[in-house]
Amino acid sequence: MPDAQPREAIVVGAGLIGICAALALQEKGFDVRIIDRDGAAEGTSSGNAGVISPWSCIPQSMPGVWKNVPKWLFDPDGPLALRWSYVPRLMPWIWKFLQSGALERLPAIADAMLAVNRPSVDMYHQLLAGGGDEDLVEDCLYLHLYRKADGANLDDLPWRLRRERGVELQVLRDGEIREIEPEVSPAFKSAMVIKKQGRTVNPGRLGKVLAAKAEAQGATFLRGNVERIVPQADGGYRIDTDQGGHTTKTVVLAAGAWSVRLLAALGVPVALEAERGYHLVFKDPGLSLKHSIMDTDRKFVTSSMEMGVRAAGTAEFAGLDAAPNYRRARVFTSLTKSLLPNLNTEAAEEWMGVRPSSPDSVPFIGEAPGHPRLFCAFGHGHLGLTGAPMTGRMIAALAADEPLNIDMTPYRVDRFSHGRP
Ligand SMILES: Cc1cc2nc3c(=O)[nH]c(=O)nc-3n(C[C@H](O)[C@H](O)[C@H](O)COP(=O)(O)OP(=O)(O)OC[C@H]3O[C@@H](n4cnc5c(N)ncnc54)[C@H](O)[C@@H]3O)c2cc1C
Repeated sequence: MPDAQPREAIVVGAGLIGICAALALQEKGFDVRIIDRDGAAEGTSSGNAGVISPWSCIPQSMPGVWKNVPKWLFDPDGPLALRWSYVPRLMPWIWKFLQSGALERLPAIADAMLAVNRPSVDMYHQLLAGGGDEDLVEDCLYLHLYRKADGANLDDLPWRLRRERGVELQVLRDGEIREIEPEVSPAFKSAMVIKKQGRTVNPGRLGKVLAAKAEAQGATFLRGNVERIVPQADGGYRIDTDQGGHTTKTVVLAAGAWSVRLLAALGVPVALEAERGYHLVFKDPGLSLKHSIMDTDRKFVTSSMEMGVRAAGTAEFAGLDAAPNYRRARVFTSLTKSLLPNLNTEAAEEWMGVRPSSPDSVPFIGEAPGHPRLFCAFGHGHLGLTGAPMTGRMIAALAADEPLNIDMTPYRVDRFSHGRP
């Protein structure tokens, strides 16, 4: 970074990505202002399933995934939903999504995902150390449950890709599952266990605690809806909000799924889609889980949190502005009951959030094309809680113009704009 540039930055968006970017920038000596229309970690970052998953390297688009789409779409309780009126606008993204699932592209995608996700548990422990809220992140296992006895198969492509990258896995059969997680229904006959995982017992509080840390270290939080980012003649930017304008030399755009709009106004297209998800919290569950558990057949995750037992999942494509369809959340009542027969399902609270999803499940991390020192940090899809700390570290190194021991090419913002990435 040239010496003339002051070490100051504005982070747009106080989700987990923006908060972790702010903390990492502070480590490099930056004065940081964070702007959000809401409080810290009150959106998508608060309602996720709490899985901190260092071994996540399997993209949503896998070879042959399209074969399942009709079955999923026509099952009203299935894991995928579309607003049909939105389909024409979705098609270009879907096309890129399907292309990303080609077998030969998988190893590079898996490596890029792993580089962001691998240090997550250790980094969260470090970020929380000494602050009095270390209990927010626990070490645990991640159980992927199957109804079929041969469902958990180490030779299946997703497990092979993980094993090639050093994950520690264990197959459990029938009763062995309940030795580890006693509340799981006997209907589940096999499980794949991923070791050395983490989970947070409250992602929203995690975000607020880390935001308070940034504030205690000198960050300024500003409330306001960012309406546009305006390049200035001196090479800096003006951030116009409904509460007034702010100027800066360095912007970090971490506005989740909404980032696409602020970039579009600058003439920068990006293949980012709003992938809505839902959760249901059973507030008086009558049981607790020691680990994160995934019903692999029905594609949702359940975990114990401070607020109760949370079941989360669903991919719904309806754009950024459509009203929530909470039926998608209520589906989790019967699904979770079939997973955990002793669960008390009375007093359940529903929620919807918007995943910022890229076609290849690799986040967009790097400078916006044509806009020096406007750094993008969004597109983490299903894995933003996991990827936040390392994303922050990457952004801070880019902003400080320091070398990163990582090839940043797979994260390029324009990788879908110039033919096939
Ligand atoms: C149901 C569900 C379950 C999930 N489970 C997991 C999981 O178990 N593990 C995992 O790793 N990930 C999970 N995720 C994904 C994860 O939650 C997201 O990837 C992550 O929260 C994205 O964080 P973010 O900071 O990019 O976006 P957000 O949390 O959406 O934050 C963006 C912020 O920008 C602000 N903003 C946007 N536009 C503007 C504007 N114009 N002006 C001012 N402020 C603005 C918003 O108010 C918001 O605070 C899940 C997601 C869902 C929906």
